[in-house]
Amino acid sequence: VILVLFGPPGCGKGTQSSRLASEINGQVLSTGDLFRQRIAQSDPLAQKLRAILSAGELVSDELVIQMLLPEIHRVQAAEQHVILDGFPRTLVQAQSLDQAGNVSPNHVIVFDVPDDEIVDRITGRLVHPQSGRVYHQRFNPPKKPQIDDVTGQKLVQREDDQPQTVKRRIATYHQNTQPIINYYQEQNTIISQIDGTGPVNQVTDRLMQVIHSSR
Ligand code: ADP
Ligand code: AMP
Repeated sequence: VILVLFGPPGCGKGTQSSRLASEINGQVLSTGDLFRQRIAQSDPLAQKLRAILSAGELVSDELVIQMLLPEIHRVQAAEQHVILDGFPRTLVQAQSLDQAGNVSPNHVIVFDVPDDEIVDRITGRLVHPQSGRVYHQRFNPPKKPQIDDVTGQKLVQREDDQPQTVKRRIATYHQNTQPIINYYQEQNTIISQIDGTGPVNQVTDRLMQVIHSSR
C-alpha cells in the first residue's frame, strides 16, 4: 500500500509519519529528508539543492522523481507499506508517479492546520539532523533544552525555518494544492481530510481512524 501524507509545511507530517510507520509495518519516505541527506555531500548537486532548500523553493519535478522512485521500489521489495511525506508537491509530480507504473497512491490523507499555527510550529521547530527526530521549543520540547532525548546530541533549527522562508513555502503550498487534490479526485483515489490541530496523540488517533476505516 502507498499512503500519501499531504498538508502544508509544518502541519505534522514528519511527526505523524514515524508513528504511523511503527503501527503498520511501513517505511517513511520524506523527500525533504532525502534532499537534506544529499546536501551533506559536497558536490555541485549538493550545492544546488542547498540553495533551493534554503530559499524555500521547490526542487525540479524531474529530480524529485528521479531520487524518490528507487526508494519506493526498495520499500516495496522489502514488502513494507510506503508512507510518502512531502510528495507530491506539484500536479506534475502526482502524474509522474502514476505514469511510473505500480506506484500509484492508494490513499491520500490531507492534514488541515491554519496558516498562523503553521508559522508558530515551524519557527519553533528543532531537529536532530542525524535521525530526523523533530521537536518543538514549546509544543513538544526535548527533556533537556536543545538536546536530543535519545543520543544527547545537539538539536538545530532548520535553515529554511526562518519566518520569511516559511511564508514563501506556505504560499507555494496553497498555489499547488488544489490541482493535486482535483487530480486525485479524478483518479478516484481515496482522499481523507483530518484536523491536524490539537495534541499530537489526538492527531495520531484521527489518522489511525481514517486508515482503518479505508481498509
Ligand atoms: P512537517 O513534517 O509537516 O513539516 P513536523 O512534523 O516537522 O511537520 O511538525 C512541525 C513542528 O510542529 C514540529 O516542531 C513539531 O514538533 C510540531 N508539531 C507537530 N504536531 C504538532 C501538534 N499536533 N501540535 C503542536 N505542535 C506540533
Ligand atoms: P520538507 O522537509 O517537506 O519541509 O521539505 C523541505 C524542502 O525540500 C522544501 O521546501 C523543498 O525545497 C524541498 N522539497 C521537499 N519535497 C519536495 C518535493 N516533493 N518537490 C519539490 N521540492 C521538495
